[in-house]
Amino acid sequence: MPPMIRLAIQKSGRLSEDSLNLIRECGISFVSSSYKLKTEATNFPLEILFLRDDDIPGYVQDGVADLGIVGQNVLVEAGFPDLEVEKLGFSKCRLSLAILRSEGYQSVADLQGKNIATSYPQILGRYLAGEGVQANLHTISGSVEIAPSIGLADAICDIVSSGSTLLGNGLREVETVFRSEAVLIANRQLSAEKQELLEQLLFRMQSVRRARRNKYILLNAPVASLAAVKALLPGIKSPTVTPLAEEGWVSVQSVVNEDDFWHITGQLKAVGAEGILVLPIEKMIA
Ligand code: ATP
Ligand code: MG
Repeated sequence: MPPMIRLAIQKSGRLSEDSLNLIRECGISFVSSSYKLKTEATNFPLEILFLRDDDIPGYVQDGVADLGIVGQNVLVEAGFPDLEVEKLGFSKCRLSLAILRSEGYQSVADLQGKNIATSYPQILGRYLAGEGVQANLHTISGSVEIAPSIGLADAICDIVSSGSTLLGNGLREVETVFRSEAVLIANRQLSAEKQELLEQLLFRMQSVRRARRNKYILLNAPVASLAAVKALLPGIKSPTVTPLAEEGWVSVQSVVNEDDFWHITGQLKAVGAEGILVLPIEKMIA
């Protein structure tokens, strides 16, 4: 049997779509359907398992799955932070402490002796210990936000992304306890063959992520502006410059970082660039 690597991803939830998209953008094809819990890729020795996200760290730790994609919040809470191989840049969120809006709050010391409801007792316990605060933690697995308003707890510690759920439950965020994003995790005793497959997969994931952060840019500029244009577009090595059929003009091609993109295009226009085209990059190989 040729080696095959087994990757566990979330079956249905906030990690699922981005996990599937990342695998597909790595050029890996597979058929998935909502009722299947397992599928095999058709063009890469990869098997995908669809699980509850809470089960993924344990399965990878035990070697039931070789790899997994999971939030750092779940990974660290499960007690296996060392399994992390690579940050994936999606499902960014934070674990925060929140209290009723009507309550006063000066500092985390105000939580001394209070009852706090959370699904993250390990992460929260470590945070509070670090702050020298002793509180009573009540572990509940869902609907944590309603605990204060029904008198179950004085405060909660839960996932926040926009804060609208907190607001809707009369809560306000007072401390950030932990920042999280999706990560690729791997069992630590992979065979040499599986390690090689992991490296291939990682190389593809890094190329996809690098491409997402960059844009390909093409423009026309008068030769007289070329020095100014080049200074704005350093490119990977240096920009490609080709003459246009029209005398005195060149076409310039380069790569720009998405964060700098609007700023740079504005400056390019100011130095005389015209016909600026910006294209997505599919893969960017280091
Ligand atoms: P499961 O049924 O698999 O146990 P779940 O209900 O525990 O799913 P989801 O709500 O789908 O989990 O969230 C999965 C992960 O996505 C979280 O552990 C966290 O890392 C991340 N996440 C959660 N909420 C948000 C959010 N609002 N924005 C971005 N990422 C989030
Ligand atoms: Mg879960």
